[in-house]
Amino acid sequence: MRECFEVRDTDVGGRIGELTVPRADVTVETPALLPVINPNLDTIAPRRLATEFGAEILITNSYIIHGTDDVREQALEDGLHDLLDFPGAIMTDSGSFQLSEYGEIDVTTEEILEFQHAIGSDIATPVDIPTPPDVSRERAEDELATTQERLELADEIDTGEMLVSAPVQGSTYPDLREAAGRHADGTDLDVFPVGAVVPLMNDYRYDDMIDAVAAAKRGLGADAPVHLFGAGHPMMFALAAAMGCDLFDSAAYALYARDDRYLTVRGTRHLEDLDYLPCSCPVCTAHSPADLRALPDDEREEALAAHNLHVTFEEIRRIKQAIRAGNLLELVEQRARAHPTMLDGYRTLLDHAAQLERADPVSKGAFFYTSHESARRPEVLRHHQHLDRLSVPDSLFLTEGSSARGDEFDDSWRVKPPFGPFPRALSKSYPLTAEAPDRTDRAALEAAADGVTRLVESNPETEVTLGHKGWPAGVLETLPEEVALVDLTADRT
Ligand SMILES: [Zn+2]
Repeated sequence: MRECFEVRDTDVGGRIGELTVPRADVTVETPALLPVINPNLDTIAPRRLATEFGAEILITNSYIIHGTDDVREQALEDGLHDLLDFPGAIMTDSGSFQLSEYGEIDVTTEEILEFQHAIGSDIATPVDIPTPPDVSRERAEDELATTQERLELADEIDTGEMLVSAPVQGSTYPDLREAAGRHADGTDLDVFPVGAVVPLMNDYRYDDMIDAVAAAKRGLGADAPVHLFGAGHPMMFALAAAMGCDLFDSAAYALYARDDRYLTVRGTRHLEDLDYLPCSCPVCTAHSPADLRALPDDEREEALAAHNLHVTFEEIRRIKQAIRAGNLLELVEQRARAHPTMLDGYRTLLDHAAQLERADPVSKGAFFYTSHESARRPEVLRHHQHLDRLSVPDSLFLTEGSSARGDEFDDSWRVKPPFGPFPRALSKSYPLTAEAPDRTDRAALEAAADGVTRLVESNPETEVTLGHKGWPAGVLETLPEEVALVDLTADRT
């Protein structure tokens, strides 16, 4: 077990965990939001982040502190906690992004970690190479090798109680991401940012983002706290949390406020386009859109930043509650409807159903079938896997209706889309208690047919008859030939 992180509760890939940050003497509950603070201009004062918003941790940039003389001197003299006036945990970014954008790196791994230690950082970051998406494989491999050398160096440096993060790179090559995750997991470093995904998110490539996270997670151990580096929009937090991200940082709340942009969990709105404020936070209950537009620039920016933060923290709480209640995927399905690219992200998440299934709890409160994507949820996959292990009689009636009378069959099982067949004794167990709409969709029937096929194929000696309620020919054609069919909607005898 990694000493600094403990998982308390799980749902799909999402988890509620405790990140112990010894240097700050703080335990942060995850999923957690780290508001990004620019030490040169704080839109919302860090003290206010703690008291008004409940922020337990924030992130600031050690590169900016290092490069600003008076801020650097004060940070070295009094420490970051005094400088920022923040009582929680403080993570520092090394400025890899700035360094890679604006020039060569002229500091060593030792120097940058020593500086972060000297200013009182609680979680430091080595200078890695954030390889952008879609670069050549050769470049991705070369840069990953450099990142890995630096992580190994960082691992050897005595940083006392300060935690150190180990960024996982690898561009858009899943096998490199996975190898990077495995390498990082092999060090004694503590927190694992999935790096350089900002360009993917800026281009709404949530499908590629999910593939990158899924690959990193395959390499990392289940006990590794994962930080989605640069993920700031609350619209995609549920999706990322369901894939197993524990930490999010948000600069978006402040950057968007500067441009009069108003965050919602269904996307971003421009203040000038709003006739109503669809939010009940203190800012939105006290102002109309016209009031906000009439504020002086700096006050409007602060008010919008406060709203943006309220929405963002609210979404984190909603995600935690969904994990606790076992309905995180229902929340992801709702969010997936906000934008077509979010739906691509969700569908990509379901491509990883087998990976997610391993961490998903066996029993939860309820399964709501709310979209045809629900037919691909890990619970459906698990049920199909489970079918191989059930013992079956010589002749079996699988039916969407009531059980067969007489002695025509040895036994009669229920069939329920999207799961397919199961013995009646399991009717009251999760996920077969699922609530599904009466107007069944094609995806649910196809998944049920897959279940029937799986049962038939693992029990070739059994004679199987399927009683279905008017399944379309295209679905019935997918079944093995030896399955006898009874259309219950045609046959009323
Ligand atoms: Zn609001």
